[in-house]
Amino acid sequence: MLALTARRMGYRIATLDPDPSCPASPVSDLTLTASFDDSSALRRLAEASDVVTYEFENIPVESLRQIASCRSVFPDPSILHICQHRERERDFLKSSGFPAPRYSVVTSASELSEALKSFPGKTRLKSSAFGYDGKGQLPLDPKSDSIQAWEQIRVPRAVLEEHVPFIREISVLVARNAQGRSVTFPPFENRHVNGILERTIFPARIPDAIAKDAMDLAVRIAVKLGLVGLLAVELFELSDGRLLVNELAPRVHNSGHLTAEACPTSQFEQQIRAVCGLPLGDVSPLTPAVMFNLLGDLWKQGEPDWAPVLATPGASLHLYGKSEARPGRKMGHLTLRASSIREAIRLGSKTMNPIRQKAGLPPLLD
Ligand code: AMP
Repeated sequence: MLALTARRMGYRIATLDPDPSCPASPVSDLTLTASFDDSSALRRLAEASDVVTYEFENIPVESLRQIASCRSVFPDPSILHICQHRERERDFLKSSGFPAPRYSVVTSASELSEALKSFPGKTRLKSSAFGYDGKGQLPLDPKSDSIQAWEQIRVPRAVLEEHVPFIREISVLVARNAQGRSVTFPPFENRHVNGILERTIFPARIPDAIAKDAMDLAVRIAVKLGLVGLLAVELFELSDGRLLVNELAPRVHNSGHLTAEACPTSQFEQQIRAVCGLPLGDVSPLTPAVMFNLLGDLWKQGEPDWAPVLATPGASLHLYGKSEARPGRKMGHLTLRASSIREAIRLGSKTMNPIRQKAGLPPLLD
């Protein structure tokens, strides 16, 4: 989606990805199929490019540093270094005074057992590295067996954090350019199922004051990080209106996909503008919208019949061209625009439920 947008804006694109059939390859002028730490591929990518960015967090920071020695890389590799590692991210938030869940770093079963004693209620054990979509996480409580939990998570370092009784999850996307100007999308409201984003509602159904707090918080984080590019800030909203930062992602974000239809400037275009030194675009909402992720589970009986979806006014279907549909794998997404959020959700259930039924899945909850 980033490459498609760059193409529309007149750029040529070089892509590095270990997967020869990666979704960006059909729209790239040059596809380098190599691992993210292949130094000769990294050199070729740098030679072919004026500016390099990334849309995935599990890239070795050293690889970005190699490119940064001769080309502009945005967001700066030091930002990825913080955001790709939960422990560093939590330490950054804490030392900078940003609100986040209480946490302890643990490196053994005995440390976990000690840490569990300091949390009165439910907790979550999260691997420090390589976690996404709820992967590498275990819900625990004070009575949990720490030896068993430590064996199950199987990582050298982890973060034990309090379970947050949030009333809503929201995210904010902030773009910042090299001149220090920031533009923030209004907050997105997110619902997760099994740790994976199920839907995003835009604009989030929250009071204006909370929306403003969330946007201010995202800008302050972006400034503190020295961001050039795009940053997603995932937040928990508590019943008293307080916000806690769950995660930071220095890239385009799943919750921002619907900006392609719902805003004059999409998150993809905004990232390209920010990293290429162009003026940032207008992000005022054009329309209420809801996005549903299309997971591989929908392909259980083969490719779903998209005809009724395509016949729905206000529906935009995005399929990523991934060759293999596995359960939980994001294969595409569906955005529905309507005159109200309620109507967009209704249309979503109406179009998605027959497809879900055919795949043996329960209907969507409203
Ligand atoms: P993550 O990969 O950390 O974003 O976690 C995936 C999802 O798990 C989040 O979007 C929340 O729905 C849930 N989650 C993660 N951490 C917590 C927490 N500390 N308390 C409650 N729910 C959480």
